[in-house]
This record gives sequence, structure tokens and C-alpha cells, in this order.
Amino acid sequence: MAGWLDALESLASSRAKAGLTRRLRPRPAGDPVVDLAGNDYLGLATHPAVIEASAQSLQAYGLGATGSRLVRGSSVAHAELESDLAAWLGAESALVFSSGYLANLAAVRSLTSVCDLIVSDAYNHASLIDGCKISGTRTVVAPHNSPAAVAALLDEHPGRALVVTESVFSVDGDLAPLAELHEVTSARGALLLIDDAHALGLLGPAGAGGVVAAGLAGRSDVVVTATLSKSLGGAGGVVAGPAAFTRHLIDTGRTFIYDTALPPAVAAGVHEALRLARAADDRRALLTSRAAQTVARLSAAGFEVSPPAAGVLSVLAPGPEAALGWADDCRDRGVAVGCFRPPSTPDGSSRLRLTLNAGVSDADFARALDVIVECSP
Ligand code: PMP
Repeated sequence: MAGWLDALESLASSRAKAGLTRRLRPRPAGDPVVDLAGNDYLGLATHPAVIEASAQSLQAYGLGATGSRLVRGSSVAHAELESDLAAWLGAESALVFSSGYLANLAAVRSLTSVCDLIVSDAYNHASLIDGCKISGTRTVVAPHNSPAAVAALLDEHPGRALVVTESVFSVDGDLAPLAELHEVTSARGALLLIDDAHALGLLGPAGAGGVVAAGLAGRSDVVVTATLSKSLGGAGGVVAGPAAFTRHLIDTGRTFIYDTALPPAVAAGVHEALRLARAADDRRALLTSRAAQTVARLSAAGFEVSPPAAGVLSVLAPGPEAALGWADDCRDRGVAVGCFRPPSTPDGSSRLRLTLNAGVSDADFARALDVIVECSP
């Protein structure tokens, strides 16, 4: 097709005019910047025991899984991780994927083998939205965090429905009313899928996540997904729920069947991180006090911030370019913060996203808050 590069150029210039050009900023190893942008909430990505477990597995298994899970890619490291993930999450069974994105695609799509309607929260992550799309199943978007609206939609559309939500939402950091949502779904025979990505390791006893905290672990009408790349500091995704469902995923989950498995060395490192995360009450307490400190500091400086349910929160910026400039100025002063602009922000408003990290020292954290305030547009 002639002229396609010109067409891309013109799309890029429209994005640039709207302040929506995205950039990659490769970070060097040992980057001295204070990290309030990554998702290493518990500071386990660089924990010596995690690195050691992963290094030993790397020696034993080599670099990659060498195949998909059903061909050659399943290792004892995967099986042991799955068994401990299921125990932690209080689920009958757990299945590991090579990313949280792929876990969500498979979970949503495979659940529609038994559902003919999806009700999806307006602020759901792109991976859940894409799962709804590829399922080809009728999807209605529910207003954010409204069990009453979900109830009304389910009542309007009789049939077997799947309700999809996050537990802690990935940009604003607010918590879904999980117990109320489950009351609504269970009373109507609907299934509830909860993406626990930003709550795993942070909420609930032993950091078992938002679903355990809400008393919904092990329910036969609840399926949990999560990424292993945030509080567990590695990579990969998990779907946890009734064994009949993980069995169904093994047989029908396209992103499970046709994708090369997570490298065993990553599974082993994540498994060690899981052991540490269970015992990390001190790190969780630190994050709780840091969350309060952040809200107090930023509200005193005149910003609107709501108390985060776990380790992520956002601060509104006047527009996309202002958000980018703010993040750049922070970075120039040694503090990495997330900059979220449309289409990544649920309501189209640009913002800084701050993610707390228990590996950051108290002094660095206090300085980072000062820098954010001083650099504000
Ligand atoms: N769900 C949510 C809520 C997320 O924030 C993310 C990560 N951005 C994912 C799923 C995808 O996980 P992964 O990065 O492991 O693909």
C-alpha cells in the first residue's frame, strides 16, 4: 500500500499536537533515581533471596522454558509455584501464564464458554477490556464501582452473566466494593472475575490480596486473576479458582496453549518472592504509613488525592503536556513518577501516578514528596 508511512506520520503528528506522544526512557542498571513509578510495591524485585532462587533455577533450567506449557514448557518450578499460589489465594487451583495480560485474556474469554453476557466496570484495565472484546460476547460497561448499577444491568439481561472488575484500580488506587458486588452476582447466579493485580501482596492476611480480604476466597462463583510482576517483583500472571475452571483453561485458553511458558527461572524467583511476601507484614505496615504521609503532604500542598486502598494513587494534572512536564521535572531531580495520559486514564484526564515502594528509604521518600510538590505545574 503506497503512502502508508505518510499516513502514520500524520497520525503521529495529531498525537503530538494533543500532547499524547509516548516515549521510552531506558533506565540503566543501578539507576539511582527514587522509584515511585514502578510496581515493585514490596521492594522484592531486587531482594537477594529472590535473585539467588532465580539464579539457581537459571543454572538448572537455562534461559527459557523452550516451549509452551502443554509441549515442553511446564517445569517443576511452575508446578510448585502454582500450588503455593493456590494455597495463598485460598483457591482450589491456580494456573500460571507468561503475563497478567495473557491471564486476563484467557480467563475472560474462557469464562464466556458458560456465559452469554459480560458486565465490565468502566475503569477496568486494558487486558480485561481486550478479554471482553476477543470473547465476542455481548459486553455492557457498568459505571465505576456501582453494585446497584451492576444489579440493574443483570436484572435487565436475563441469562448467565460474568461480572468483571479489578479489586484495587490501577490508576486511581481505589478499592472495588467486592463483598457487595458478590452479593449482587451470587443472588443472580452470575460469575464474578476479580483482577487482584494491585492488591496481591498488599491487602488481606499475609498479603493474600483483596479477594481474601473481602472474604471471597474459594467461592465457587469467583475467579481471581493477578500479575506476578508487581508485589512479587517478577513477571507472569495467574488465574485462580475452581479446579474445573483451570482444567477448562488448560484445554481452551488460547494464550495458555499457544504461548511459550514463563521462564522457569522467573517462576522460581517469583516463588521465593511469594514466600517473602507472605511474611512481609512490616513492609505492608510501612506502605500503609507512607500512603497516609503522601495524602497528608499532597493535600497540604493543595492537590486533590484520595487515600489509596493499597500502594497506588494518582494526582490530577491540568492537561497531558503539563503532566508530562511535571513527570520530566521530577525525573530531572532524581524522582521517577508515572505519567498517565489518555487513553490510559479511565476518564481521559491526565495525571501523575505514584506507586509506593517499601524498598525506598524514609529519607528518599520524604525528599521525593518534596520534589513532586516543588515541580508541580
Ligand atoms: N491487570 C492490571 C490491573 C494491571 O495493572 C496490569 C499491569 N499493567 C495487568 C493486568 C497486566 O499484567 P502484566 O503486566 O503481567 O501483563
